[in-house]
Amino acid sequence: MRWQENDRSKNVDDRRGQSSTRRIGGGIGIGAIILALLALFFGGDPMAVLQNASQSAPAQSQTQPVDLEKREDYALGEFVKVVLKETEDVWNTQFPAQLGRNYQEPVLVLYDRATTSACGSASSATGPFYCPGDQKIYIDLSFYEELQTRFGASGDFAMAYIVAHEVAHHIQYLLDITTQVEQQKRRMSKTQANEMSVRLELQADYLAGVWAHHGQKMKGFLEEGDLEEAVNAAAAVGDDRIQMKSRGYVVPDGFTHGTSEQRMRWFKKGLMSGKLQDGDTFGTDNL
Ligand SMILES: [Zn+2]
Repeated sequence: MRWQENDRSKNVDDRRGQSSTRRIGGGIGIGAIILALLALFFGGDPMAVLQNASQSAPAQSQTQPVDLEKREDYALGEFVKVVLKETEDVWNTQFPAQLGRNYQEPVLVLYDRATTSACGSASSATGPFYCPGDQKIYIDLSFYEELQTRFGASGDFAMAYIVAHEVAHHIQYLLDITTQVEQQKRRMSKTQANEMSVRLELQADYLAGVWAHHGQKMKGFLEEGDLEEAVNAAAAVGDDRIQMKSRGYVVPDGFTHGTSEQRMRWFKKGLMSGKLQDGDTFGTDNL
């Protein structure tokens, strides 16, 4: 992705280096950590974040002056700020054009090790997520390394896709989809509720594709290989892969994000279409 010269978003709350010393131990069993990994990887269910928080030790903040430019993840942080700005530019245009209303930009929190959100405390093990409670996206940049080493998805556009996916959860919140899904899930069996979560996740992948579609049209920011990187990332973080990696076998009932193939397909669909209305993952039998 071509980005170095592009504008950075002003909606970034950079908490890196404001390290919370976090005592891990006692309260957190290995089971809870695996659960948190499974449920929260890559934009998990906020309720699960809450549960995780209740099992975590309290974080103590120590604020020190930070020289971000000296950090190893400085460039990656700048990249994420640029991508967030690209999502603002696309959705500030597409909301009025396609929905006849204005877009409200979310805040993105960059942190390392641990931080607090309205959905509970977050740690590196949490993975990127969106919290509807404060309408903020939380990303610990060490996830990028994990994306490459653990899931084999490399390239800067893989990270751009992650940001676009989390922004998509914000869009679902703005459009009241998240709230409706949460209400319906309460009246459903666990399996049915899980399927609703999958539909929500696949729609976020679709919306990430819609973003790439218009981003390319407006700015032409894609470089050779970028889409492959995004598609790879979508495939890499599919629940079947995550579960295989963490448990060694696949449990279909435990899926919350969709399979690699589904995630890739919905992302591509959004990319081809560019239309919000074609992303109704709730009204189709063909997920
Ligand atoms: Zn998600």
